[in-house]
Amino acid sequence: MNALLELDKISSGYGDVSVIKGLSLKVSSGSITALVGSNGAGKTTLMQTISGLLPLTEGRVIFDGENISEAPPHRRVELGLALVPEGRLIFPEFSVEENLKIGGIIPRARSNRSKLTKEMFNLFPRLLERRRQAGGTLSGGEQQMLALARGLMSEPRLLLLDEPSLGLAPNVAQLLFETVVRVRESGVTVFIVEQDIRSTLEISDHGYVIENGRIVMKGTGSELLADETVRTAYLGI
Ligand code: ATP
Repeated sequence: MNALLELDKISSGYGDVSVIKGLSLKVSSGSITALVGSNGAGKTTLMQTISGLLPLTEGRVIFDGENISEAPPHRRVELGLALVPEGRLIFPEFSVEENLKIGGIIPRARSNRSKLTKEMFNLFPRLLERRRQAGGTLSGGEQQMLALARGLMSEPRLLLLDEPSLGLAPNVAQLLFETVVRVRESGVTVFIVEQDIRSTLEISDHGYVIENGRIVMKGTGSELLADETVRTAYLGI
């Protein structure tokens, strides 16, 4: 399948500190692709680099055949890249419905906002029940759903999810992973970064393992789940 996103030997970091070190990977169009690794491996740094919040020091980011290495973040959103950042970052004072509207504010999605809001309420019935409630008063799981829905309001072609299950109770996390599968079924490609390695690889077509800013292993989700090294190092089996 075609690569919707290709990272070609990219490096990035903070000042003199290099965190991502010559990393290459591909996200196939229509797939769920996972990046798994332990704390501090560079997962969030990679997501910020892909979305243009951190500059590249080396390499290229190719989206749908176009070199977007120099493109500012808003241009990347216009092209269809949406980041749902770690820690949710919803607007606490605004209602659920207002948070969704803000997600669809970019020109490409703006005319479709009412239709998209209805779709989000179908996908997340819980948000419909709470549409007038302030975002900051939602539970952790509800806020994560809102962050996901807000990302989808920009009609992305590629959704970048940074640790969506962080801090969620296991049953809520499970619901979130099921929702991610439904998002992919609706035609959106998903690149997901997670510490819940088992649940993530279970829903992923492809996966990469990151250590110290480098890819150390890749395979299908099931290959990685069955791999002895992954099982010992990351699943504690
Ligand atoms: P976690 O799973 O704990 O969120 P991660 O894989 O997402 O970890 P990053 O947040 O990308 O890891 O951090 C990678 C490395 O970069 C860490 O050593 C971290 O201390 C460092 N780092 C992150 N943000 C900054 C920053 N703003 N300035 C300097 N160093 C940073």
